[in-house]
Amino acid sequence: MSKTLALLHTQADGSLPKAALETLAAAVALGQPFDVAILGTGASAATDAIQGCGAATFYTVDDPAVAQPRYATDTAAAVALIQAAGAELVLAPGTSRFSRCLPGAAHRVGAQIDTHIVALKAEGDTLRAQRWFYRQRILGTFSRAARPWLLLLDSGVFAPWQGAAGKADAQAVAVTFAEDDQRTTVTGVQKPVADAQTIRPDAKLLFVAGAGWTKKQKDGQFHVGDASTLILDFLGKTQASLGSSKSLVDIQGEGQETLSFMSHMNQVGQTGSTPRHPKGLATCCHGEEPHAVGWRFINERRAVNLDPNCGWAQGKADVLYVADAFEVMTKVNALL
Ligand SMILES: Cc1cc2nc3c(=O)[nH]c(=O)nc-3n(C[C@H](O)[C@H](O)[C@H](O)COP(=O)(O)OP(=O)(O)OC[C@H]3O[C@@H](n4cnc5c(N)ncnc54)[C@H](O)[C@@H]3O)c2cc1C
Repeated sequence: MSKTLALLHTQADGSLPKAALETLAAAVALGQPFDVAILGTGASAATDAIQGCGAATFYTVDDPAVAQPRYATDTAAAVALIQAAGAELVLAPGTSRFSRCLPGAAHRVGAQIDTHIVALKAEGDTLRAQRWFYRQRILGTFSRAARPWLLLLDSGVFAPWQGAAGKADAQAVAVTFAEDDQRTTVTGVQKPVADAQTIRPDAKLLFVAGAGWTKKQKDGQFHVGDASTLILDFLGKTQASLGSSKSLVDIQGEGQETLSFMSHMNQVGQTGSTPRHPKGLATCCHGEEPHAVGWRFINERRAVNLDPNCGWAQGKADVLYVADAFEVMTKVNALL
């Protein structure tokens, strides 16, 4: 088997993010000898925290220059770690930090790189990887003869590594950062307040809203304001992730009154995302095939729809509540 390296990074508090522990578990599961390299603040303490993982050697870059996630310094550090380990196969978490810098690092070490890997299997000297193609409709299994080969692993696929801490005796790898590498300074992170950020990949529940929320209701009136309040109240109470049907997000583009917090980023389906949550609840959404295909990784599916013949009733949901979603969600929020 090629010389394998799990390349990880810490987060601002010096701990390893969940995605890094998942990558570590993937490296362990290959059942072959491997090394671990960590860059970022507190890298050396982070190696101690995972000492029991069975890695042969631990490498770190703990330089203040990599305290902030910055393309130039992260790339230089990743190159130094890959070269220090003499790595031929590099497994790394597909975090935003690594997705940004590792393609550059791969170029510098003359490596091939693949992203969104969802499964790995070692067969003798061959590593087979899997990823989805064509908007997650085709699952491909492939291998590469080229070395080095970098693989960025999707999060949420492998269970995070758990095990004993100890004294890892990591080797600190020296990196000479060019002055130019450090001219960019990360001054802070601007992001929506927690409640405004409605896409939450780690949430236990996916709550999907369909176009029905914006349609005339039984009193002949639109109730888009009530719909907004009900949905935001539910999301605030449950911290569920918000998904949408295509029709609902398209309404916004047509300038009609709709849910202001919804964008195409929320769209689930054939031309949208294929999120992974243990449970899903669809409301005012018809459950047509191009939408429901995006639910393939949702284990337990429920839907609320006035129409007993909607798509969810055609075998696409485990439970269909034939009911008014406005009434159901009012009651659910009250119970919560
Ligand atoms: C090539 C192609 C790709 C596509 N890709 C996608 C995709 O990625 N994602 C996607 O979502 N769609 C996609 N579509 C569109 C898809 O076929 C459907 O048109 C769309 O999903 C319908 O959205 P909807 O269910 O929200 O709206 P509608 O079909 O309008 O359904 C609204 C539903 O709300 C219900 N309803 C209304 N009021 C209430 C109430 N008070 N309580 C309960 N239920 C109520 C109604 O009974 C109805 O079933 C694609 C289509 C094509 C052709």
